[in-house]
Amino acid sequence: MKIIKIIEKIILILIICLYSCERASLDTEYITKNVIIIVIDGPRYSETWGDSSFSNIPQMKKISEFGVLYTNFYNNGATYTIPGYTSITTGNNEEINDLGLEKPEFPSVFQYCNKKYSGNFPVSSIFASKYKISVVSDCLDSSYSGFYKPFCDCGVNGIGVGNGYRDDSITIRKTLTSLDEEHPRLILIGFGEPDYSAHNKNWQEYIDAIKNTDSYVYQVWNFIEKDKYYKGTTAIFITNDHGRHLDNVKDGYVSHGDTCDGCRHISLLAFGPDFKKGEVIKINRELIDIPATIAMVLKFHMPTGHGNIMSELFK
Ligand SMILES: [Zn+2]
Ligand SMILES: [Zn+2]
Repeated sequence: MKIIKIIEKIILILIICLYSCERASLDTEYITKNVIIIVIDGPRYSETWGDSSFSNIPQMKKISEFGVLYTNFYNNGATYTIPGYTSITTGNNEEINDLGLEKPEFPSVFQYCNKKYSGNFPVSSIFASKYKISVVSDCLDSSYSGFYKPFCDCGVNGIGVGNGYRDDSITIRKTLTSLDEEHPRLILIGFGEPDYSAHNKNWQEYIDAIKNTDSYVYQVWNFIEKDKYYKGTTAIFITNDHGRHLDNVKDGYVSHGDTCDGCRHISLLAFGPDFKKGEVIKINRELIDIPATIAMVLKFHMPTGHGNIMSELFK
């Protein structure tokens, strides 16, 4: 009987500890005041961090010593662009149309952020090479639909009436101008060319596009390091919406969309004043954990998100 009582007491103490740890993380003051999410569309892990020469991502390899790399990071939902982006922005793996014809069901991290910090335009922004990505700026939830939307500059012709795909070089230029002049608190940057070139069955252009996005990531990181407004207060999350088929699955690198490890296995590289530096983390995490972590550092609640806070990321 005595032993049972002691075990009961230990369990009770553990529950109280766990509860207070969770409270502590929610109440903690963070240095991070701004967040940048960079999504590189569709490179395969074997052409990025899974290649031990890192020959396609030399800049990211170089700056990774200042950040945290997740080597077991996954898209556990549908491995297409809009479902992948929806996981990143709403924290839900939702079955959703990939042409941008259907709004996500739940409010996005932008909408929660804008609600919390409204009045300071533009609080949050999306800059993306593919126009269809603008669909994640809104949702179907009746309390949020049409409200608290981020500023959107996507595709050809950018704002409002955009269409199609534009070159990633335009997206990086517009993004850097916005960071310099408008200081959004939360910004998503979507680069599209690795996916576009792979679908065109052009291996060399696919590899070149990965190398180009590697240099664009470096430009953003370097800008933040030097900019008076963002330096020392900004977190950056660099990830992918999906990977591509393994060589022995269907048409290999050309397509994606199933549950093979090539499509699911992506990566996350994260930098921030509250995060560890130079660490490689091997525990499994997934796209929906990104908005949960952002909501915590930017201090707003995201009750409709289903991801977990990546607590191991923090110092
Ligand atoms: Zn694609
Ligand atoms: Zn696949």
